[in-house]
Amino acid sequence: MQNRRLVAKFGGTSLADAGQFAKVREIVLADAARKYVVVSAPGKRFSGDIKVTDMLIALSQSGSEAEFDRQLADIRARYEEIAATLSLKTPLAEVFETIRSDVKRGAGYDYIVSRGEYINGLLMAEYLGYEFADASELIFFGNNGKLDCDKTYAAVADRVADGKNYVFPGFYGVLPNGRIKAFSRGGSDITGSIIARGASVDLYENWTDVPGVLMVDPRMIAEAKVIKQLTYRELRELSYMGANVLHDEAVFPVKEPGIPINVRNTNDITAPGTMILPAASEDSPYTITGIAGKKGFCAYFVEKNLMNNDVGYVRRVLSFFEDNGISIEHIPTGIDNMSVVVEDSKLNGLSHEDVSRGLQAAVSTDSVEVVDHIALIAIVGRNMAKRHGTAATIMTELGRAGVNIIMLDQGVNEMSIIVGVAEEHYEKAIRVIYDVFVG
Ligand code: ASP
Repeated sequence: MQNRRLVAKFGGTSLADAGQFAKVREIVLADAARKYVVVSAPGKRFSGDIKVTDMLIALSQSGSEAEFDRQLADIRARYEEIAATLSLKTPLAEVFETIRSDVKRGAGYDYIVSRGEYINGLLMAEYLGYEFADASELIFFGNNGKLDCDKTYAAVADRVADGKNYVFPGFYGVLPNGRIKAFSRGGSDITGSIIARGASVDLYENWTDVPGVLMVDPRMIAEAKVIKQLTYRELRELSYMGANVLHDEAVFPVKEPGIPINVRNTNDITAPGTMILPAASEDSPYTITGIAGKKGFCAYFVEKNLMNNDVGYVRRVLSFFEDNGISIEHIPTGIDNMSVVVEDSKLNGLSHEDVSRGLQAAVSTDSVEVVDHIALIAIVGRNMAKRHGTAATIMTELGRAGVNIIMLDQGVNEMSIIVGVAEEHYEKAIRVIYDVFVG
């Protein structure tokens, strides 16, 4: 049998300074299976500090050459401090000179923001005595900006076939024209997942600064419990709805081969964290696995006499949104009416007026009503299908607390219930739901 191998991805706070680097080395060297390390850029060292990625974003917007040089020097100082404390020899002066000249020659935004991970990768590779493997040689995007999965997984498999240990910088890959392309923020989680898939490892460890995936945002409920086991599906629902432990796209590469993800805490290495699996292997005592939510939604309530007999009407309504490039969250339907729930930030600059008028013109509605300032809450749990009365409990308890439910949506797989409430009731609703199911 082949030896156990795993990917260990470390987030920004786990790599914020030399002290954190030392913890990471201790973790990596404690298990010979940790052959592949994926790094983020240095994050915040203390509250109020600035993440290197944010410094790089500011750098990409600098107005003058003098400002650019000053900002670049501040970024370099972050790495110099790590390198000096750990006696690393990576030639940072040369690395920064290359960045400077690449930017002068027109390297764009994505190149600049990706350097945070790139330099951290160089330092970490030296510190661990691992090989450095640049993501620009392994992670390929197509001209459409989408990951070229086949090419990428094959390149990763090929690179690790020599049996060596590697450090990979997270957050970026390369376009067919050779230019760097970055993932969206938090994208090093996706890199970790891609490397895990390409290298066909047994486990993807994602080391962060929290004890695991929590049942609810701890900023709202301080005593939020850690979820021991989570299925890929549950994770997807929770992270899509705002639970921000892993990037919401990080699950896709590992999902098909069924590689488990273990979310762990760099600052508490004895804690088991959360296991994310194709299917749970343990029973959870709770009906729900987690709660997540977001503010900033609106709904268009469309009425049309005899809508239910008008074949294709719903499609035509949805086409209006599609034609305007507006992505839809939910479409609860009634008799002769339907609601289209949309995130405000995805309206592509259209006002409610524009949408209402546009719908009227496109599908000759009887009326369109706009409900604004909606918060959506997802109550997610694989156990909900096995137990009766979950939706009833939610409705009863919210009603008792004086929270009006604007919308309720549950798929037939009964894995999640989405509740829409007024934004002003958001925090209260989450508290009520947590208390009744978790206590
Ligand atoms: N450094 C990037 C960010 O701050 C990517 C990452 O850490 O995953 O978003």
